[in-house]
Amino acid sequence: MFSLSEFGTKVFNEKIMKEKLPSPVYKKWIETMEKKDSLDRVTADAIAHAMKEWALEHNCTHYCHWFQPLTGLTAEKHDAFIDIKGGEPILKFSGKSLIKGEPDASSFPNGGLRSTFEARGYTYWDCSSPAFIHDNVLCIPTIFVGFHGETLDMKWPLLKSIDAISKQATRIVNAFGDKDVTSVTPYIGLEQEYFLVDRELFLKREDLFLTGKTLFGALPSKGQELEDHYFGAIPARVHEFMKDVNKTLWELGIYAKSEHNEVAPAQFELAPIFNTVNVAVDQNQTIMEVLQKTALKHNMVCLLHEKPFQGVNGSGKHNNWSLITNTGVNLFDPGKDPHDNIQFLVFACALIQAVDDHQTLIRMASSNPGNDFRLGANEAPPAIVSIFLGQTIENLLNQFMEKQPKTYEKNSLNEFGISSLSYLPHDSSDRNRTSPVAFTGNKFEFRMLGSSMNAAHLNVIINTIVADALNDIANKLENHKYRQDKRKAAIDICIEIMKKHKRILFGGNGYSDEWIKEAQKRGLPNIRTFAESLKILEEKSTIELFMRHNIFSKEELKSRVDVLYTNYINVRLIESRTFLHLVNAVMIPTIIKEITMINAMGTAPTFLKRKVEFYNSVMIELSEQSLKLEDAISKTSEFETKSEAAMHVLKEVIPLMENMREMYDKIENKLAFSSIDYPTYKDLFFGLNN
Ligand code: ADP
Ligand code: MG
Repeated sequence: MFSLSEFGTKVFNEKIMKEKLPSPVYKKWIETMEKKDSLDRVTADAIAHAMKEWALEHNCTHYCHWFQPLTGLTAEKHDAFIDIKGGEPILKFSGKSLIKGEPDASSFPNGGLRSTFEARGYTYWDCSSPAFIHDNVLCIPTIFVGFHGETLDMKWPLLKSIDAISKQATRIVNAFGDKDVTSVTPYIGLEQEYFLVDRELFLKREDLFLTGKTLFGALPSKGQELEDHYFGAIPARVHEFMKDVNKTLWELGIYAKSEHNEVAPAQFELAPIFNTVNVAVDQNQTIMEVLQKTALKHNMVCLLHEKPFQGVNGSGKHNNWSLITNTGVNLFDPGKDPHDNIQFLVFACALIQAVDDHQTLIRMASSNPGNDFRLGANEAPPAIVSIFLGQTIENLLNQFMEKQPKTYEKNSLNEFGISSLSYLPHDSSDRNRTSPVAFTGNKFEFRMLGSSMNAAHLNVIINTIVADALNDIANKLENHKYRQDKRKAAIDICIEIMKKHKRILFGGNGYSDEWIKEAQKRGLPNIRTFAESLKILEEKSTIELFMRHNIFSKEELKSRVDVLYTNYINVRLIESRTFLHLVNAVMIPTIIKEITMINAMGTAPTFLKRKVEFYNSVMIELSEQSLKLEDAISKTSEFETKSEAAMHVLKEVIPLMENMREMYDKIENKLAFSSIDYPTYKDLFFGLNN
């Protein structure tokens, strides 16, 4: 492994700050952070100066405000440290430049939030995530807002949602008597899945190149069924790549714990150690960038798309979420004594209530256009949201429900056999891999999230809905008839929640057809596509929820819906136009080549003639359908609202494309090697092994 002294050398973290800043400045900084105050000018200038000196030591020439606009990617505007004073160049970086920036905001999606005369946008330093050096540029994490402070990015709502959940979770912990707790922070660990393909092959596939996924291609005779890839040795080339990735991440203070093959061929996973949700989201954005850049160096391309290949597993980003107090207690750790246990159960019930009440929001926020090909498919959680708690906790909560609250005695928890929950398994033995939301010992794992997505989006939702449930519980605890005995009151509240929300708990096989039927009986929505889930953002209850916790205003939410619909339509139209091009530029010419080859044989036997006839008919069908597809694509612009246009794309454009793809995929494996001059699935899957 790498030396400890190199860990985080490219991060301007607290240790470096302590080392580089004059002691009064450092003290002031810590104070400001604790109070969540704004920095005074003198302190900001001193920090900026130290940051610049440190960056120059690391050969940086530029700095940038690094932010996360609604594209889901990161954006940065580079500025040099050089300034001109009295006609002479000097190296300068002021507190003002550190704190505030003014990028050209007009090129980022805003969903109609800014009219052109107020097109300015500002970036503000997010001092809760440390600055870092990437490719000789000092990157300063910032939020991005409009002229009047409107949200234009992924991070600002995330920070607000952290405050919201901290406030409510602290109320509960304080109510249970722990007055030392003054804040609670969500922590996440994001397991990142991705595919690698050879770069030469990638460049020969226009679909991969333009859309990040293959739009046609039949499975080879060997796919993932032997699961040999999962346990097999990592190809030498990939191993070198991973070493390189790990080294870069190590210097950026990101400890990537595991590196192993995933189930599909050419699929891999990287899991860093968990961090505060804010830092973890930033780190994940960096990880995705490092994976992509490093792959290129090794003559490969990293595919972050949720479903690059049809027929084998797609990629997700497991979002392991927990809540930790400023005193270091994980509120989802069942703990050793009954007191901790009841608090743990209250938090677990809050999550149950939140997820059940807001299933569609979770489904929506876990998705993008790409994830539609993954959710519900092989080895991916279904589009139905449910929670797997594990036998022990579920049984316990069931026992609660069966007993009457009247019978509680002071030490009543023991009656329920939970004098200690510390024996709960923390390993994978009690796990259900098919559940979209699973309790895994001391955290909840949200498994629906798409691999290419910015995780802030989902975590804003999780933080907000759990904050809302906690608020509800805190109100009840404070006004409960047993309020003098918080444990008794808490049990009562847990029972109430369980009775109402039990339907969301499911421990069986989430991939089975029976579950789909059962879920329907339980009234759990099964929203098949991302586009259909977007409506939830326009509902009154959603708007009120976000306003209640000061996360989004009505207008901000509206703009987000607009951006999401627009993105959906654009992504799908790019795919269908690329597909249309490929029908004419690749599929039909390939079939012609095959026919020409057969015809060149001279007087062909009857079965070959039949083959030619068949291929002719496929070509005719493809040509006819492609006219229809062209027509359907052009109609998209005729709709008045974005949601109507999106529905048109979903219901009219995509089925045509899928149908045509199926037609071609069915014959691809029957064609002669000599007729195909593009890389097939076989080449793409196994092209790294040499
Ligand atoms: P798995 O078996 O799913 O791989 P791991 O224990 O390896 O489980 O953890 C997966 C991810 O969860 C890692 O990124 C890890 O850092 C993260 N994680 C572990 N504990 C917590 C926690 N309390 N809160 C949030 N994430 C956590
Ligand atoms: Mg996992």
